[in-house]
Amino acid sequence: MKLLIRLIPPFFVRLFARPYVAGDSLDLAMAAVNDLWQKRSLMATLDLLAEDIREQGQADENLRTYLRMVDAVAAWKGAGQEGRPTLSLKPSSYTIAPLQDGGDARGSFEAIAAIVDAAGKKGVQVTIDMESRHWTDFTLDALHKLWALGHRHIGCVLQTRMHRTEQDLAALPKGMRVRLVIGIYQEPAEFALVAKPAMKQRMLDYAARLLKAGHYVEFATHDEAAVRQFVEQVAPACGAGPDRFEVQMLYGVPREKLHADLRRRGIHCRLYVPFANSWSLAVQYLRRRLDEYPAMMWLVTKNLLRIG
Ligand SMILES: Cc1cc2nc3c(=O)[nH]c(=O)nc-3n(C[C@H](O)[C@H](O)[C@H](O)COP(=O)(O)OP(=O)(O)OC[C@H]3O[C@@H](n4cnc5c(N)ncnc54)[C@H](O)[C@@H]3O)c2cc1C
Repeated sequence: MKLLIRLIPPFFVRLFARPYVAGDSLDLAMAAVNDLWQKRSLMATLDLLAEDIREQGQADENLRTYLRMVDAVAAWKGAGQEGRPTLSLKPSSYTIAPLQDGGDARGSFEAIAAIVDAAGKKGVQVTIDMESRHWTDFTLDALHKLWALGHRHIGCVLQTRMHRTEQDLAALPKGMRVRLVIGIYQEPAEFALVAKPAMKQRMLDYAARLLKAGHYVEFATHDEAAVRQFVEQVAPACGAGPDRFEVQMLYGVPREKLHADLRRRGIHCRLYVPFANSWSLAVQYLRRRLDEYPAMMWLVTKNLLRIG
């Protein structure tokens, strides 16, 4: 199936994965984020889909868009500051020398630092996403450097599939916000677990470790059983109330009942809301979503044909 999905032409990828993207402008994305908060009390983290860039002009444009995103979030008018969105970004969006191709990621740290600096001045939280293993050292180094410069509004992502994560977790700056995920990038067994149940068990174990060490934990998964185990057993056993953690899921993944149930219990729930400036830059993200959930193609086709 994965090979088939890689062969689907970009136009169809866009069509099938449409529910995962808030739109092709910042205005549309902000409207979606506003709706989530006003109608369903769901918070958001906003992400520009902009990986695999090949021209410096695109890297510059991505930086400019993130600076506009900082301003848009700073101007958030939703009821109170509680529901204010955060930003998520990927280091590969700002360089035409990607590490996985043997490049040196030039320009990426400087762009991230500029965004983090602007966001800090306006009270906007930023999370640096974790990409494939080629980027792990770069991303963690960037986080450590930014933390050392005094930025306390940044958060990191740890992928529980990676064997190195246990050491990375132990070395995190005290108090840094952490999103825990199993990790979307397929990595060789030399570097990572290959069985999902073991990755999920590590999510629960690492969540407990992080809570006990005083970190704010963002438990990011669509696995309802894992979410329930986290909020009903792991967090209470660590003495952590709902002010110490949140549950995160991706925009477009149908989990309405679970969201509503979490909100009823006073647990914060945040959706990762991507948008694109250019659909061609969204295709990689969308292919990964279809890889995870090929049934989305059938659901979208059914909607288009209005059958079933
Ligand atoms: C908020 C958020 C941020 C993330 N950030 C990163 C990151 O920075 N780096 C990184 O490597 N990974 C990131 N991920 C992806 C993550 O690592 C997983 O690949 C992804 O969440 C799928 O794993 P799962 O834990 O949901 O479990 P799974 O076992 O894969 O899924 C659980 C259930 O949800 C369903 N499901 C899963 N994905 C979809 C989908 N796309 N559409 C419909 N149903 C689906 C499955 O069919 C299954 O029933 C992020 C995920 C989330 C939710």
